[in-house]
Amino acid sequence: MAKSTNITWHEATISKQDRRIQNGHGSCVLWFTGLSGSGKSTIANAVSYELFRQSINEYVLDGDNIRHGLNKDLGFTEHDRSENIRRIGEVAKLFVDSGKIVTTAFISPFRSDRDQVRALFDEGEFIEVFIDCPLEECERRDPKKLYEKARRGEIKDFTGIDSPYEPPERPEITIHSDQVSVEEAVNQVLAYLRDKHIL
Ligand code: ADP
Repeated sequence: MAKSTNITWHEATISKQDRRIQNGHGSCVLWFTGLSGSGKSTIANAVSYELFRQSINEYVLDGDNIRHGLNKDLGFTEHDRSENIRRIGEVAKLFVDSGKIVTTAFISPFRSDRDQVRALFDEGEFIEVFIDCPLEECERRDPKKLYEKARRGEIKDFTGIDSPYEPPERPEITIHSDQVSVEEAVNQVLAYLRDKHIL
């Protein structure tokens, strides 16, 4: 593939810092990671809803939507999963530059992929939120009936069944979604944001 070489990065007239000052709050990515059915999407959307209610600039980047559009050329091989995460990381970076608190809800099973995304951001901007829920509980919930299909062999390379999930080693936030309610999880995330003076 031919790559452009004559491209320089334009510093915009208005900076990320200017936008943060105008907004009256910081910007960051809340990167949710965890098994399918652990509650990433549910909690990410509930966090975003609460931020919106408080007039904070937010946005949710959700797995299925991105795969329908930006990443519709990608499948689930190891390479495609990595590329999926890389692109989402770049999009999240643009959102953080735009002054928003962006939540992302992707399994993102590989530690190296998540660490590569972390490396795109300034200190404190990338907040890894580990939705820690035992596989048995995720499988019991099975909101999209994907585990059922994976167990029948209808889906290959399904995370937790026949593809690994590498838990974060030092996530900024860990939520035990089998032990706390969605509301408690939201409070936990908001408390972190307040503690770091992002809110
Ligand atoms: P994921 O995005 O991780 O695949 P989803 O959010 O789509 O997971 O699904 C999680 C399911 O678990 C939902 O049906 C949700 O209602 C249910 N659930 C039950 N308890 C919780 C909890 N404490 N936190 C998050 N989800 C929960």
